[in-house]
Amino acid sequence: MGMLQGSSPISGYSLENLQSFPRKLWLLMSGLHSARPTYFPKELLGFLVFMCVLAVEGKDCYQNGIDLILGTEVVKADVASKTLTTAYGAVYKYGTTLVATGSTFIKLSDFGVPDADAHGIYYLREIKEADALVQAIKTKKDAVAVVVGGGYIGLELAAVLVLNKLKVTMVYPGPWCMPRLFTTHIASFYEGYYKAKGVTIVKGTVASGFETDQHGHVKLVKLKDGRELPADIVVVGVGARPVLAPFKGQLAEEKGGFKVDGFFKTNVPDVYAVGDVATFPLKLYSDTRRVEHVDHSRKSAIHAVQAIKAAEAGNSIPEYDYLPYFYSRSFDLSWQFYGDNVGEDVVFGRDNTTTQPKFGAYWIKDGKIVGAFLEGGTPEENKALAKLAKEQPTAPSKETLLAEGLNFALMTNRVGPPNL
Ligand SMILES: Cc1cc2nc3c(=O)[nH]c(=O)nc-3n(C[C@H](O)[C@H](O)[C@H](O)COP(=O)(O)OP(=O)(O)OC[C@H]3O[C@@H](n4cnc5c(N)ncnc54)[C@H](O)[C@@H]3O)c2cc1C
Repeated sequence: MGMLQGSSPISGYSLENLQSFPRKLWLLMSGLHSARPTYFPKELLGFLVFMCVLAVEGKDCYQNGIDLILGTEVVKADVASKTLTTAYGAVYKYGTTLVATGSTFIKLSDFGVPDADAHGIYYLREIKEADALVQAIKTKKDAVAVVVGGGYIGLELAAVLVLNKLKVTMVYPGPWCMPRLFTTHIASFYEGYYKAKGVTIVKGTVASGFETDQHGHVKLVKLKDGRELPADIVVVGVGARPVLAPFKGQLAEEKGGFKVDGFFKTNVPDVYAVGDVATFPLKLYSDTRRVEHVDHSRKSAIHAVQAIKAAEAGNSIPEYDYLPYFYSRSFDLSWQFYGDNVGEDVVFGRDNTTTQPKFGAYWIKDGKIVGAFLEGGTPEENKALAKLAKEQPTAPSKETLLAEGLNFALMTNRVGPPNL
């Protein structure tokens, strides 16, 4: 008996691999809206929608060994008795369980910001939250929006709001956007691009409160530096935290997640953890990391299931050997990053005169190239960057890297001619 908790994208990828398990699998998801897992393989979608409908109607559904149980969540786990209890009080006994509960957003109220739950303030994680925001955008034509946060979500959402003709102001505390990945030079490009699209950027301060109208709907964002910003819609993206609750205290933790080995096994037999909740050994850097990104969530899910299947067949598979990979798209921009953004950075190819921006960066540590970033890359160029970050070649001088730019990755990997 297998048990998988959480929905997209992990469950989708695990499910694909688990289909051939000769036994029953329960897939438990919180919220009806989790019924549409974003990353489910196309061929499974019809089947799943069918399953969802049956589950929502409360009927017992079973097909290909999988029960999809929606609209509830695991509220209690007991690894000693190998049982999971849902919010409806149903108790499931498992043989193996895979924890894929992901992350949830950090709310401004967690920082003690008053009125942070007023109508018109949106956080994004599940489909239902995205649906609510889409509805607000549709009904509030020519609205004024404030985006709180300058990370992935802030940047992607600000672009979406502008494209929907809202007047957008972004507020973030750092000296530049995406400070955990971007250098000041990289960030200055994106900030300039956003400003040219009409976004007002307010840096170095945070939202400290909200003013609402008589219906409890937000109308003003108060900033710590005393400024006030009118707002019909506020979108908050100030970080996420892993959802550990049902297993908290029963599994070993490290760096904010459940500690797993190279096969995503926790310290408790038959309990695996993958995706955002797993702190795993990152072989490449002889380190342990928790990675909140979609690429890792997919790959960790596949790896865990392959490990479970191999162990049952008396075989083994190699340990997970992950190359960190992050990406984002907004407006007509698209960047990819591979490796580690540590050490000294070299930004190359910045050319503001071209209509389609293209530039990149390398990070050098202990004389080796350990990270690579590219805006506007082709699939082949991005592949070359990934190879570079994985192989970590000796870095030439900064001047040479600057002069060669993307060429260095292409030539090192011999994948084709430069295209800067
Ligand atoms: C708005 C937004 C934009 C993003 N953009 C990017 C991007 O551009 N690039 C990128 O790489 N990453 C991005 N991410 C991050 C990426 O989506 C996550 O890293 C990834 O979804 C993690 O997958 P997961 O399966 O571990 O968790 P999640 O996708 O969070 O899924 C966990 C699921 O488990 C369910 N669940 C939680 N607790 C329980 C319980 N007790 N019982 C049953 N079910 C439960 C949740 O409801 C949820 O459906 C973005 C995230 C957000 C929110």
